Order: sequence, then structure tokens, then C-alpha cells
Amino acid sequence: MSENKKTRVRFAPSPTGPLHIGGVRTALYNYLYAKQHNGTFVLRIEDTDSARFVSGAEEYIIGALEWCGITPDEGVENGKIVEEASARHPHGPYRQSQRRGIYRAYAEQLIQNGYAYYAFDSAEELVAKRAEAESKGQTFIYNQVTRKGLRNSLTLSASEVEHLLETTTGWTIRFKMPENEIVAMDDLIRGHIEVNTETLDDKVLWKRADELPTYHLANIVDDYLMEITEVIRGEEWLPSLPLHYMLYKSFGWESSRPRFAHLSLLLKPGGQGKLSKRDGDKLGFPVFPLPWTGTDGEVTNSYRGAGYFPEAFINMLAFLGWNPGDEREILSLDELVEAFSLERVIRSGAHFNPEKAKWYNREYLRAKSDTELAKLYLPILKEHGVEATEEYTARAISVIKDRATFVADFWTAAPYLFVAPSEYVQKDAAKFWTAENCGYLSKLRSHIAAYKSELEVAAIAESIENYIRSNQWPFGKVMNSLRLSLTGSASGLGIAEIIYTIGLQETVRRIDNAFKTLGT
Ligand code: GLU
Repeated sequence: MSENKKTRVRFAPSPTGPLHIGGVRTALYNYLYAKQHNGTFVLRIEDTDSARFVSGAEEYIIGALEWCGITPDEGVENGKIVEEASARHPHGPYRQSQRRGIYRAYAEQLIQNGYAYYAFDSAEELVAKRAEAESKGQTFIYNQVTRKGLRNSLTLSASEVEHLLETTTGWTIRFKMPENEIVAMDDLIRGHIEVNTETLDDKVLWKRADELPTYHLANIVDDYLMEITEVIRGEEWLPSLPLHYMLYKSFGWESSRPRFAHLSLLLKPGGQGKLSKRDGDKLGFPVFPLPWTGTDGEVTNSYRGAGYFPEAFINMLAFLGWNPGDEREILSLDELVEAFSLERVIRSGAHFNPEKAKWYNREYLRAKSDTELAKLYLPILKEHGVEATEEYTARAISVIKDRATFVADFWTAAPYLFVAPSEYVQKDAAKFWTAENCGYLSKLRSHIAAYKSELEVAAIAESIENYIRSNQWPFGKVMNSLRLSLTGSASGLGIAEIIYTIGLQETVRRIDNAFKTLGT
């Protein structure tokens, strides 16, 4: 790759289902790399494997990238894959099934130059070969040794080949892996790698049956035509790298071969093994960015659904396998763009940590202003049948913010900041609503009712404490009976915080209500 080429990277998912967080991380690293180099981030849909196509997956991928704020520069317009080339999207279409017409000529070019051949073995013949090898405890591989005994354009006569090409439709074009050659590769994360071609098989590149390329051919041809400069993708593609290098060589495209970076896998929390799509359900945390409705009608857990802020999600993901090399953990997308480097991507697998994901959300929640959070909380309050002003909601948030991870926690932590108790926890009432406590409470009520103006939390706390202590009443008991009257139970936020939020009038009203309901 020549150094002055404009950086162009691509995220090339196959629409086989919802994108899981590993895929989002790959997209994110591509995005960060592109932006850092003032380059272009391309989205390409690799849908040549029709057997694995899942309807709705493409829309999901686009929606997920958008929610994360890592929208592609090329390949997507108005939330849809671009289907025709245009000035902004010069390499369209960006869905491989719509590019199907271009690949065969490339496969034929390889045949003409001796780098590929036609293979006529039927699926049944290959199944039989596999079974035969298995019965001898071996594995059948279509490679430089076995191809010599199989039905292909290397073993059949030219006229037989011509006849079969015209009269049958089950044939394929396979790559002719050279014998005993060293493929020397460089990976930006893994360094130098060498592989002998003897360990590699003859992969199918193009299939007559559906007239479609396989992943390998389409991927290389498109990366070349789309002028991709760096391929940043998951480690599961590392075994394909030698073939991809060989393809670039066979096409004569070595000078425009992109640089490669293979990202390590995301691993299960704590344990061994790859984080799978099923782990989320099993272990109780989301592995998908957005909800996905399966064919059984079940909706998966998701980061958006669980109430994560996209900025927190992205920040957490960026750190799964990379760090900036200093103490910083909270970085905005722009800061990530600046700090990112492939050199600092770790080679070993990164353990996903659900607790850390929550920690990130808490940090982002705390960094938001009370008013900003109020705007997000108001619709949730509405769902609970509560209408409140933004000002009041922001005030309530200021006292519960520290107890919340998600905006929805504001409600679970303290619904009584918005709704007066209509019931009282019986066991708490039995314990604290005693004649003695009620005597103290009615005096305390008058003390509170006499406050001249709204006080700050600390002033309320101090005044109430001084009043109880100077009367030498049992502090805990009095406080719990007061809390019971304000919240309906003996647990919850600090008394002063509740009074500060709901105000003096409402405080007195709730105490009076409790007397009415529970008696004295
Ligand atoms: N379509 C492949 C996938 O779904 C892309 C691999 C690549 O980036 O080369 O992972």
C-alpha cells in the first residue's frame, strides 16, 4: 500500500442475524481508525451465502451503528444500503448480492492465468469422499494432493470440461493453491506470520449453481474495487489470510493489497471461551446493542433496552481489547478517535465484564446534568402515570442520582418522590408507628411546619437532628416513624433529601395523612 493513499476501511458484516457486541466492536475500531486518519468508513453487506440470510438483519446492523453514533460515511444513505453508485457512494452497490454480475469474470481470469480451475465433483461425490476418509480415521480435504484424483479441469480433457460446463450446473471454480510455497504475511496486531501452502486447501471461489461468489472471492474483489486500505476484522478470519494473500498475488494486485489487523475474540466473563450470542440469556446480560425479535417472537435483551447510554456502551466496548496507555477510562467518541491506535489493541482475548458495563453507565449518568436526565426520566414517569414538571424532576434526580445506574432506577429507587404513599409496609408500621413515636412525631411535625422557607438538604438534616437530640428523643425511632409517613416504609433515602425534594407543604400533608390512615 502506498503511504499517501486516502484511508478507507470497511465493516463487512453478513446479514445472518442481529449483530452481537463483538461485531459492534469491530465496526467501532474501523470507525475510530477511519476518523483518526481523516478517512472513509464504508459499510458493505456480504450476503452471498443465501442459506444463512436472515431477513431484518441488514436493517438491524444499520440501526445498531446509528444508535452507537458510528454511522458509515459510504454505503448507507437515509438509513438504507446504497444500491447504486453516486458521487458520495462511488463504489455502489454496497450489497454483494447486487454486485453478483462482476465476480465471475474475476474467477475466470484466475482460471486463464492458471490460478484456479473448474471442479465438477458433485455434492454426493464429496460426501462419499469425506465418509471414506473418516472410516479410515482421516479427514478429506480438497487440496493439491487430492485434486489430482478428482473430477476437475486439471484432470479431465478439454472437451470433457467444455461439455460439463455446458450441460451441468453443479460445478464450481476452485482456487489452485500452489504447492510448497511460503506465504509471508504481516498483521498490524499479530506481527509477521508465515504459512506453507501445503497446509491449505483449494477453496471454492464461485458456484455455478447460484451463480454467486463465495465469501473469499467477493471479499477480495470488493476490497480491491472499493480501494480499501486497511482490513480490521475478527480473529476468526485469520485462517483465511493466507488464501487472501494468495488471491491478491494471483490477481496481480499485491501493490494495492490492504494492510490487515485481526482483532482478538471477546471472551465470556471470568470463564474460558468465546462470548456467544446465547451467553447473554444464560448469564443475564445483554450481548446485543438493540432488541431483536427472533422467529419465535422472543425479544432479546439489549443495551438500548436495558437503558444504557450509547456513549457509555461505546466507551466500554472500545476498552474491551484496547486502552489508551494511560489512566483514563472515560473517553467520548471524539476522544476515542484521537487516542485510538491499532498498536495498542491487545493480542489476547478480552474478557467481557458486565459489572464494568454498568460502571460505565453510572459514570455517564453522573456526568449528565439533572435537567438532561429529567428530560429522559419524564417519559418513564409518564408510563407510571405521573405528570411532573422538568424542574421538579431535576430536583428529585439531584438527590437520587448517586443511587442509580440507569435512568429507570430513579423510579425504583424512590417512587415516593413523585407519589405519596397510599399504603404503609405493615411490619414497619407495627414496629415504628407506636403511641410513643407518634407523640414525638406530632411535635416534630409542628417544628417542620414552622420552617419559614425552603431549606437546603444539609440545613434540614441539621435542624431535625438538633430538634430530636435537644428533646432527648430516641433518634432512630423518630426518624423511622417520620420516614414511614413520607415513603410508606422504614427504608429509603435520607429524610432531609425527601423533605427537600417534596417540599414542606407536602411533607406536612403526608405526616397528617399517615396519622389519618394509621391512627395514633
Ligand atoms: N462477512 C464477513 C463477516 O461477516 C466479513 C469478514 C471480513 O471483514 O473480511 O464477518
